[in-house]
Amino acid sequence: MTEGTHVEAAETAMDYDVIIVGASIAGCTAATAYGRAGLRVALVERHRSPQAHKTLCGHFVLGGTHDVLRRLGFWQPMLEHGATVTTGLGVWTGSGWIVPRPDSGIPPAISLRRRKLDPLLREIAGSTPGVHLMRGHRVVDLVEDAAGAVAGVVTSDGGTGRTILRAPLVVGADGHRSTVARLAGVAEDRAPNERFLFWTYYAGATMNGPGDGQVWPLGQDVAVCIPVDDGLTQVGVFPVKDRLPEFTTDRTAAFDRFVARLPDGPSLAGARQVSNLVGTTDYPCVRRDPTPRPGLALIGDAATASDPVPAVGCGWAFRSAAWLTDATAEALARGGNVRQALRSYRRAHRFIDKYDALGRKEALAKPPDALQRAVRTAAVSDPYVARRLAMFAMRAAEPSVLLNPMVMARALIGVRVRRPRETPPVVPAG
Ligand SMILES: Cc1cc2nc3c(=O)[nH]c(=O)nc-3n(C[C@H](O)[C@H](O)[C@H](O)COP(=O)(O)OP(=O)(O)OC[C@H]3O[C@@H](n4cnc5c(N)ncnc54)[C@H](O)[C@@H]3O)c2cc1C
Repeated sequence: MTEGTHVEAAETAMDYDVIIVGASIAGCTAATAYGRAGLRVALVERHRSPQAHKTLCGHFVLGGTHDVLRRLGFWQPMLEHGATVTTGLGVWTGSGWIVPRPDSGIPPAISLRRRKLDPLLREIAGSTPGVHLMRGHRVVDLVEDAAGAVAGVVTSDGGTGRTILRAPLVVGADGHRSTVARLAGVAEDRAPNERFLFWTYYAGATMNGPGDGQVWPLGQDVAVCIPVDDGLTQVGVFPVKDRLPEFTTDRTAAFDRFVARLPDGPSLAGARQVSNLVGTTDYPCVRRDPTPRPGLALIGDAATASDPVPAVGCGWAFRSAAWLTDATAEALARGGNVRQALRSYRRAHRFIDKYDALGRKEALAKPPDALQRAVRTAAVSDPYVARRLAMFAMRAAEPSVLLNPMVMARALIGVRVRRPRETPPVVPAG
């Protein structure tokens, strides 16, 4: 930690209203919003290339983020870059498929591969008046004021030069391994993830399940099939770790076997696989306090890096950045009470905290319990339960949209009165 008195040791010193570390989803979102609010923003990114992007990401952005993407003006440019919109995912259950009705008001999800999304967001942020995009600068230290509040960062451009940036607020948007959090001594809360994952993309694949994408919760394993940009289909598997040896012996063969056995799975015989398998064998959940110290806020994965299975991370990155800027832009612009503004961001972040607590349990990959099975079975034939399940899955409302006594009772009663082997008609969305 560099103290304010050591500024003369650096080559350059610059003042801003806010410094954001990391020009990916969370950082670019925050920079764009702060810039539009008239603030002077330093957006610091260690990668030099404008094309730099995260490769280990499934990029399916849940419908709960739709409003924020529209409000920030990102939705349309994403569509113009080829993003695919998904209005109704079919969910397989042993009792039939769940597909929300087209008129059920579930906000749409969107998918644009990170190779296109990241440069697009960086382009939007970097061209926003007031935003100084500093590519090729890695944050290597923090600056503290006399009271111990975080008051800036020290960056290195890879040579001997150091730049000191100062601002009343530093935002760590630097991902799940957050350097900013480590330098600030922020505690990290890790939880295990008992699944691993691999996916690939196909040209010319045919989906056979209902809806405009499918999810298979298969006991402890999960699989997905999602349309993405350039007319490609993404097929992903999330097996429980007990199956790792199978994938270690021959990953491609194990993947192909897994997909071939999916009920109503995609037809890939005439399709061309256009990428290698992408994935990881271990991705623990990480959580940190989003407002850990005066003068410091964390957004996106730096605050909450969740299990990839429910595909929440990109949405959390967009949304936490929007909540932070909503809470603090005015205080920063008018010299107001930034501490109080950060408390307001902390409160907004509870939405993510609640889902993260549930997500950590899901990441243990236990077989579904009786209640989970009842809800899924009920959702096959009961549009009320199906809608609430979809709102929950899309993170489009508080968890209580699904997890409340009324829905649970309705699911349990519905399952008890349903005749065995009855398979109700599926209504594909969209
Ligand atoms: C296997 C996998 C699949 C996933 N699939 C999905 C999915 O389908 N849908 C979904 O919503 N989410 C998914 N996620 C989660 C998603 O990838 C993350 O939640 C999202 O990338 C978080 O964005 P971010 O901006 O917070 O961080 P990141 O995208 O990680 O960006 C961090 C940025 O900070 C920069 N940086 C880091 N350190 C420094 C430093 N010291 N100085 C300067 N810059 C620095 C990095 O270069 C990078 O640009 C997946 C994650 C994994 C691992």
